[in-house]
Amino acid sequence: MPKSQEVQIAAFADLVVKVGLNLQAGQRLLIRSAVEGAEFARLVTQRAYAAGCAEVDVIWNDDTIALERLKHAAEERLNEYPPYLAQGHIDAANRADAVLSIRCSDPELYKGQDSSRLKVVERATRTALRPFFEKITTSALNWCLVSVPGQAWAAKLFPDEAKEQQKAKLWTAILKTVRADLDDPNKAWQEHLEGLERRREYLDQKQYQSLRYRAKGTDLEIGLVENHLWMGGIQPTPSGIIYVANMPTEEVFTMPHKNRVNGLVSSSLPLSHNGSLIEDFVLEFKDGQVVSAKARSGEDTLHRILDTDEGARRLGEVALVPHSSPISQLGILFYDTLFDENAASHLALGRAYAFTVKDGTTWTPQQAAEHGVNDSLTHVDFMIGSADMDIDGVSKNGSLEPVMRQGEWAF
Ligand code: ZN
Ligand code: ZN
Repeated sequence: MPKSQEVQIAAFADLVVKVGLNLQAGQRLLIRSAVEGAEFARLVTQRAYAAGCAEVDVIWNDDTIALERLKHAAEERLNEYPPYLAQGHIDAANRADAVLSIRCSDPELYKGQDSSRLKVVERATRTALRPFFEKITTSALNWCLVSVPGQAWAAKLFPDEAKEQQKAKLWTAILKTVRADLDDPNKAWQEHLEGLERRREYLDQKQYQSLRYRAKGTDLEIGLVENHLWMGGIQPTPSGIIYVANMPTEEVFTMPHKNRVNGLVSSSLPLSHNGSLIEDFVLEFKDGQVVSAKARSGEDTLHRILDTDEGARRLGEVALVPHSSPISQLGILFYDTLFDENAASHLALGRAYAFTVKDGTTWTPQQAAEHGVNDSLTHVDFMIGSADMDIDGVSKNGSLEPVMRQGEWAF
C-alpha cells in the first residue's frame, strides 16, 4: 500500500534529524523557519527531542512582513539587520549547535520592488550574519537546508490546480526528491550517498587542472585550484559529525580558481533569486572575472548580484549533476535553487567553500586569496547543465578525459 502523504512528511522530518542534521544526543538545535513552515518545524522539533536534543530554539521569518518592511521602512532602518537576531544566530554558531533552515518562499515576492532598497537589505543581512555564515560555509557545525510548500510558491508551480490541491501537489514532488516516498527512505539515502561518494573519490584522485564545458551557448574553461577536494552528499564537522547539508542533494562539487575562468556560459534554467527571476542569461568570463552579463529578463537582478562586491563577479563553486537526476526527471522548475541546482550541473558566483580545498579552512584570508579561493558576501548558484553538455577534464599533462557526455557521467 502506498504511504499516505502524512506518513511521508513524518518520514521526511525523521530524515532531516537523522540523515540531514545527524543531530547528536545532548546537542542544541536552532531552527530558522518561515512562519508558513511552522507545521513542519513542529514535526522536526518532536523528532529532535526524541533523538535526545538538549533544546530546540526557533528564529521565525515571514514573507509578508519582510515585504512590508522593504516597501515602507525608513531608508536608514533598512541598513540595519536587527542586532538581537544577528546575535542569536552567532551565539548558536559559536556553540556549534545544529542549524536547520526551513524555507517556503514565494519566488515572486520581490517582483517589481525597488532593487536599490532590496540591495541595502541583502547587504545588511549578509554583513550582520557574516560570522554565522562563515561557520556554515566552513562546515564548523552540522546544518541542513530544506524547503516545504508555501501557498504562493505552490500556486506559482501548479496554477491550474484547485487552491486546496496546490500545496499537496508540491508536497508530492518534494517528498519524491527527498526519497521520503520510498519504502525505506533511510536505506535509500545510504545507497544514494554511497553513489555520490564513488564519483567524488574518482574525481578527487584525478586532480584535473581544469574542466572544459561545451554545449549550446557555452564554451568555457574553468581552472580548478591546486589540491581541490570534491565534495558531495556527506560532510564531516571538525568534531566528526557526518551530515548532509542539503535535502535533496544530487551534486558533487569543488573549488574553481578565482582567476582562471575563461569563455562564455549560458544558463540552462531560470534563476530565482530573492523573489526575482532571471531568465536566459549569458556570462562572459575573462581571467576569472565576469566582463559581460546579459539576460532576456531580470537583467537588473543579475547586475545587482554581480555588483554585490568584487568577489561576486567570480566563481566560488563548480558542481556536476547528471541530466538523469530524479529532480531533472520530474520536469518541474521549482523556482528554488535547492531543487533546481540539483536538476543540472551548475556554477556559483561569489564565496567559495573553504573546505573544498586541502587545508583551506586553516588559511588566513590573504593565504586563501593567494591560492585562488574566491571571497564574497554572496553565493548564488546558477544552472548550466543540459542533455547536450559535454565536459572534459584537463589532466596535469594537458590531455583531455571525458567527465560527462550528453549530460551524463562518462566514467
Ligand atoms: Zn551546488
Ligand atoms: Zn552553491
